[in-house]
Amino acid sequence: MKHYNIAMDGPAGAGKSSLAKALAAKLGALYVDTGAIYRTVGLYVARQGGDCGKAEEVLPKLPDIHITLDHGPDGLQRMYLNGEDVTTAIRENAVSRYASQVSAIPEVRAFLLDMQRKLAAEHNVVMDGRDIGTVVLPEAEVKVFLTASVEQRALRRWKELCAKGESPDLATIQEEIAQRDYDDSHRAAAPLRQAEDAVLLDTSALNLEESLEALHAIVKERIGP
Ligand code: C5P
Repeated sequence: MKHYNIAMDGPAGAGKSSLAKALAAKLGALYVDTGAIYRTVGLYVARQGGDCGKAEEVLPKLPDIHITLDHGPDGLQRMYLNGEDVTTAIRENAVSRYASQVSAIPEVRAFLLDMQRKLAAEHNVVMDGRDIGTVVLPEAEVKVFLTASVEQRALRRWKELCAKGESPDLATIQEEIAQRDYDDSHRAAAPLRQAEDAVLLDTSALNLEESLEALHAIVKERIGP
């Protein structure tokens, strides 16, 4: 089959990463989680005591940030920050906000663009993020915009955190997600929006298996079985 890229965008907690990972495994493609890359930048800036919301504090630090990633046989994307494995550290709840803040800075987006495009040029990828279909891979063979109600998304994120042994408050998670949705869709630089040629998939009423089936059907229609 010819080289292909699948772009999956959508708001936080829509199930992008679980679905993109499962789809990539099914297709034998590489799963690329671009949120993890923004999280790594946010983690670095916060660790250095910088305010992730202030471009003047973030930009001078960019030259000191060397991000690499690799994929294990299980398809898991491991993230390295200046050689340190930060795969687990970037999943802390506070880092979501740092990532959202640094991602609103155009220079940060430009800094990370090549890395994302290179992965897509070298591999068949299922890439998930906020601007993959609109900015990073506008020529992607398949574009899916994945969404679900804010209540469903908050509940999923809450369960995920509980499974990790944290004791989060559901109402707070929902507020944080709503705030991130707002910030991600209202920023000037590459805001979250559905590409014109993306297929909308609402997973509010679907479980993971049903969502994967629906997603696979969309992909098959465009690139074959
Ligand atoms: O996908 P995840 O929730 O890990 O992403 C964290 C944050 O990184 C998002 O809220 C968004 O602000 C930012 N992001 C982005 N563009 C991407 C991926 C993530 O702006 N392609």
